[in-house]
Amino acid sequence: MNVLIIGPSGSGKDTQSAILEEKFGFKSLSTGSILRSEVKKGSKIGKEISKYMDQGKWVPTEITYQLLGEEYSKLDSKNIIFNGVVRYPDQVKLLDNLVGLKGNKIDKVLLLNLDNKAAIERLTARGRKDDKEELIISRLNEFKESFESIIEQYNQRGILINIDASKTIEEIHKQIVKNLNL
Ligand code: AMP
Repeated sequence: MNVLIIGPSGSGKDTQSAILEEKFGFKSLSTGSILRSEVKKGSKIGKEISKYMDQGKWVPTEITYQLLGEEYSKLDSKNIIFNGVVRYPDQVKLLDNLVGLKGNKIDKVLLLNLDNKAAIERLTARGRKDDKEELIISRLNEFKESFESIIEQYNQRGILINIDASKTIEEIHKQIVKNLNL
């Protein structure tokens, strides 16, 4: 099963993906992690990426999907959780094309709903380098702008699952398990 998990920064995408990996043997692919690890390498492309990330901006799709494509081609698993890989509306089609290369499709989309106030509270407590309040707000605003078109596309396919991400980690996990029939 190919599952896409989307939601604003701070909604718990990484935490929930990690639990699904541990408990149910999913492999997870996170564009946030892929991009951060490229920055760490200090490569030319990594330097380009940090220009965006350091300002709380999203990275251009071309760069993001080139790196995601490389990681996806290396991955050999029937159950994959795609974490944060769709943020711009045009990435919906790109992800379809990517999984289509292996004859797969996106089966379910988990939407972790969390309002801005709660997201900011969680993120300022987390303290990652790009978690300064003004950068958080910038990321959340970018999310909102792209959000409606993305949601609409998956909703029309009938694969969108709404999750209340204001709950505890355990409660969010339970909602996910139930909705994915795990
Ligand atoms: P995250 O770890 O999901 O909060 O992502 C951290 C940062 O990585 C985001 O603020 C973006 O700058 C970048 N990023 C992650 N996924 C994408 C994506 N699908 N498209 C563009 N930028 C992304």
